[in-house]
Amino acid sequence: MTKALLTGNEAIARGAYEYGVSVATAYPGTPSTEILENIAQWKEIRAQWSPNEKVALEVAIGASIAGARTLVAMKHVGVNVAADPLFTFTYTGVNGGLVLVSADDPGLHSSQNEQDNRTYARFAKMGLLEPADSQEAKDMVGQALMISERFDVPVMLRTTTRISHSKTLVELGEPQARTLKEYKKDVRKYVAVPANAKVRTGVKQQRLLEMAEFSEQTELNRIEWHDKRVGVVASGIAYQYVKEALPEASVLKLGFTNPIPLKKIADFAAQVEQLWVIEELDPLVEEQIRAAGIKVSGGKAELSRVGEYSPSMIRKAILGEDSTAQAPAAVPVRPPVLCPGCPHRGPFYALRKNRKRVTGDIGCYTLGASAPLESI
Ligand code: SF4
Repeated sequence: MTKALLTGNEAIARGAYEYGVSVATAYPGTPSTEILENIAQWKEIRAQWSPNEKVALEVAIGASIAGARTLVAMKHVGVNVAADPLFTFTYTGVNGGLVLVSADDPGLHSSQNEQDNRTYARFAKMGLLEPADSQEAKDMVGQALMISERFDVPVMLRTTTRISHSKTLVELGEPQARTLKEYKKDVRKYVAVPANAKVRTGVKQQRLLEMAEFSEQTELNRIEWHDKRVGVVASGIAYQYVKEALPEASVLKLGFTNPIPLKKIADFAAQVEQLWVIEELDPLVEEQIRAAGIKVSGGKAELSRVGEYSPSMIRKAILGEDSTAQAPAAVPVRPPVLCPGCPHRGPFYALRKNRKRVTGDIGCYTLGASAPLESI
């Protein structure tokens, strides 16, 4: 068995290679960019950058309807740009499986906000997978494609920066044969005029019920029994923090988080003295558990709705223990700057010299706001 030390993004690219993706599209943005950069190494996959995330998704939708397994990647705010076709695509459904990778950025390491895109999956009634390390990031590409084809729905694979950019060991497999599913012209399915979309609304609701049952059965949502005084529901990187902070606690690890497995959670809750829900950003899982009438001992109120978590935060919230870890050493601040040869330097220099200010777009342009350019 060959193993490799891969970032989450490299592992997702490897998953696209192993699980039969034929078309991959993306718009770059930290922490997602390396996914398509790595996919491009395999000539078996048609990989292309798009001018924006909406176009990336539209090209991917076309490939899916034509019968290809397809992956489209973007950072979290990119899903705002792609939301228009996405919401209609959840009505029409897929032909070849389609996985939408949303790389979220809790803590705003390189972003203008820290929106929690799990809400998009719930809003659009898509399947949702959350890997907790690089192995899962690879494996979940295959599972997302399987779920997409089984339930006729696009599936979101949601990572966060710590998953996207951290390296863990990954077992490499052989690539599956790439096959195209047969394309059949089907106006009632793929043309979302009102009469057709009304019919698809019912399909969508039925599919959600079937995915909820799948969520109860799948090993993607598994219980790790230990001491039953504390039971924790966690997903994504929060799962790793819980395992490090509370190795003795029982954990319900959620990998498939829309729809959540409410019956499994209720069974788990009934067998532990305290039920905690640990998730970064929005209380998406916690609110659904509380709304189902399941008693929650702690979660958002004891931790935080903003920024990243850490093992010491979790130990403090649940056990009341202060961290014994040393505070990070003070280091000089190193603000980001434009690259030495960046073509934006000249215009910003001219603007600064002439005391003009402009509004700016995303990404590198915002660096024109910093000294010495100060033009945005
Ligand atoms: S700073 Fe300029 S040269 Fe560097 S990546 Fe951004 S746009 Fe390109």
